[in-house]
Amino acid sequence: MIGSYQACAELLEEADYISIVTHLRPDADAIGSTVALGRALELIGKKVTMHVGQNHPVPRTFLTIPGADRVREAHELPTDQDLIVTVDCGSLDRTGAISGYLHSRLDDLLVIDHHASNTGFGSTNLIDHTESTTVILRDLIELLGVRLDKPMAHALYAGLMTDTGSFRWGSPRMHELAAELMEHGLDTRQIAVDLLDATSTADVQMIGRVLSGLQVRETGNHRAAILIADVETISGHSHAAVEALIDFVRALEGTDIGAVFKEQVPGRWAVSLRSSSLDVSQIAVRQGGGGHVPAAGYTTFGTREKIVSEFLDVLGETP
Ligand code: 5GP
Ligand code: MN
Repeated sequence: MIGSYQACAELLEEADYISIVTHLRPDADAIGSTVALGRALELIGKKVTMHVGQNHPVPRTFLTIPGADRVREAHELPTDQDLIVTVDCGSLDRTGAISGYLHSRLDDLLVIDHHASNTGFGSTNLIDHTESTTVILRDLIELLGVRLDKPMAHALYAGLMTDTGSFRWGSPRMHELAAELMEHGLDTRQIAVDLLDATSTADVQMIGRVLSGLQVRETGNHRAAILIADVETISGHSHAAVEALIDFVRALEGTDIGAVFKEQVPGRWAVSLRSSSLDVSQIAVRQGGGGHVPAAGYTTFGTREKIVSEFLDVLGETP
């Protein structure tokens, strides 16, 4: 753990005007953390703006989280706030289009995060290796003297559910917190449908096309299940459907790692890695990315042959 909850709460209490920033290509923990903290700060009288580190809007899937429509793009970040808080960003570069500006505001930067790889790039840091950033915010919101309400509970639950792979990994605390959040009257079935399960016919057909190209590749002591989702196949499809691809390869029999290569624009790939026996964060870090032991990712560039062979090279050198 880096920093203290008390110091973090005091810094937030002293500021009047606060901007909250989360990572590019946000997930539900990123958006849930942003809007839960934003709402808590507004309830104690702060002026708040919320931003994602990219210049295109938040995927529609996340607009089901109450208040997510308030999260603005990077280019709308004001410059006259007293304090900037990053949530769920493991490193400064994860703030994407905002990272250049944040370099000039490092003295006013509070970092709240749960990534083990985060070394603390703010002037004040609260880095606790919890299941999700929303787990940290649950305690921080209490320290701020704010009573949880249904919209905040929904946002916190969204991050907890998705960052634990729907409660597959984490400590016993994740279930206790889920129970506490459910007491606020959450429709957890609907939240799961909204964030994870909702699909269209076209999305299922896209998933079928990607799955039909499944490869199992052997290198060193490892066997990887690999899916390649090129831009032609996935463009126009829902964020949730594309992100669901990893679930088909996270534990394929006879393999010890699953990888999905998602081509966002021609030649630029977002890579998701999952394993229940390897530390995939180490592989991701070697490729310039990051993440957690069971789930990590990175961004890479090139042809499909190049990106797969680079991945296999790194995997082959992994003990
Ligand atoms: P996902 O595969 O769901 O996109 O990401 C899994 C985890 O890997 C996330 O929690 C995030 O921390 C990390 N991650 C994914 N992509 C990147 C990336 O491009 N850079 C870094 N630093 N971390 C990433
Ligand atoms: Mn997270």
